Amino acid sequence: MLVDGLFGGTITASKLLKHGDFGIGTAEGLNGELIILDGVAYQALADGTVKVLKGDEMLPFANVNVSNFEGRVVLPGLKMDDVDATLAKELSYQNTFVAIKISGTFKAVQTRVVKEQQRPYPTLSETASKQQVFDAKNIKGTVVGYYTPALFQGAGVGGMHLHFIDAQHQFGGHLLDFESDKVKLSWQLLDGLDLNLPIQDSEFIKHKPSDMGIIRQSISESE
Ligand SMILES: [Zn+2]
Repeated sequence: MLVDGLFGGTITASKLLKHGDFGIGTAEGLNGELIILDGVAYQALADGTVKVLKGDEMLPFANVNVSNFEGRVVLPGLKMDDVDATLAKELSYQNTFVAIKISGTFKAVQTRVVKEQQRPYPTLSETASKQQVFDAKNIKGTVVGYYTPALFQGAGVGGMHLHFIDAQHQFGGHLLDFESDKVKLSWQLLDGLDLNLPIQDSEFIKHKPSDMGIIRQSISESE
């Protein structure tokens, strides 16, 4: 529904955090990129700042899980394009969700942050031109994200969906690219999907969605 422009929040941050301590998402009005790490929801904003989301703030979309990383490998360096192939050497995961955490020092990180939208909301693809792009060099931090199987495109973003937050919690966003120095890559296979649907939200309940072809195409373009 985010694709169709339903950016109104439907769950509070505190309720969301009952379901997990690790994750990604966005805030009401598509206001920035969320990074949930060690039980704290950080909001990277389009002005380049990062703040901690308050418990009563609303979110239209997020993915969270209770972290319990089962595997890890230390790498001398890693590029964003190689995350998939690097993980595939360690485990088979193509048909399930995987929580992915990469922490250490990064030579270069490029993020994008969506800008807060006002009602009437545009569609997700219409917001693509209103994103801010940020670059950082030689920065310590953590990549937080998920692998979503193609089968579940729509419930999540098919393939890798990664966000970044630096160690000082002052720089972050949706990852466009990175190249690391020494990092630890950790993973957790997820054996279920709990989907929270906002049945009390009249916009959600009454909305007639675009057809799935448009939704899938729009998710790929905006990511
Ligand atoms: Zn994202």
